[in-house]
Amino acid sequence: MSTYKKLLEFARDQLKESGISDADIDAWLLLEHTFGISRAWYYLHSDDEVSEADALRLLKLVKKRAMRIPLQHITGIQEFAGLEFEVNGDVLIPRQETELLVEEVLGVCDGKDVLDMCCGSGCIIISIARLGRPGRTVAADISEKALALAKKNAAKHQVNVEFVQSDLFAAIDGSFDIIVSNPPYIPSSEIESLMPEVRDHEPRLALDGTKDGLEYYRRIAAASGQHLKKGGRIYLEIGYNQAEAVTKLLSGAGFCDLNVKKDLSGHDRIVSARWL
Ligand code: GLN
Repeated sequence: MSTYKKLLEFARDQLKESGISDADIDAWLLLEHTFGISRAWYYLHSDDEVSEADALRLLKLVKKRAMRIPLQHITGIQEFAGLEFEVNGDVLIPRQETELLVEEVLGVCDGKDVLDMCCGSGCIIISIARLGRPGRTVAADISEKALALAKKNAAKHQVNVEFVQSDLFAAIDGSFDIIVSNPPYIPSSEIESLMPEVRDHEPRLALDGTKDGLEYYRRIAAASGQHLKKGGRIYLEIGYNQAEAVTKLLSGAGFCDLNVKKDLSGHDRIVSARWL
């Protein structure tokens, strides 16, 4: 027999040993997920005994996490913009930095038609549809599996988003007031040096921005004008060192009013521009 407290300590030590930097947090989150308990409940019951079967349920998950499977693949969820999204190995796990992209678009999307290019889990367009008052909302991704999950997330949040399977703009009809995108932007050569959670478990298709990391920005910059109304705007998430290159691509394609926004860590993160 063990107690909640002993189990939490054991989980933390196991995760630390596997080189997980947030071992404390992850151990707690696995305990919370396995037993459905709150922090307050834990403090009152930390010395309660846990049955062997229950302890085993937790230890199985700890073992998975120690193998560097992302926590979100174990719990199946990630919170984003205050909403809960279902995630799996077919989509990029929504990142906190990306909330800034949503925040920017929420400020300008009232009554506007919005296209989310490379929607993955759907976190961006669903947050916009749920938290704002946009007009038509369309989301595209090349991956059918990603779209299947995005549709589930849209249903969960009861928003009306049209999902289209499309290699960038190939299957996109009509024009929009706003195009938003967080495309794959990691240079291929850097993928091997990423954390095992990302490198081995998140879809390469969602990470790899090809040789210089800029291929999708190149293609998006070149094609977006044909799908934007006059005066329409584009909002792109970028890697911390890509602001200059992406601004250049957009101005070269005919965009004006270029703007770069930093994230909470002080890194360049969003480039936006207007189409004339
Ligand atoms: N748009 C999705 C997100 O921001 C997926 C991004 C991607 O696959 N590169 O989470």
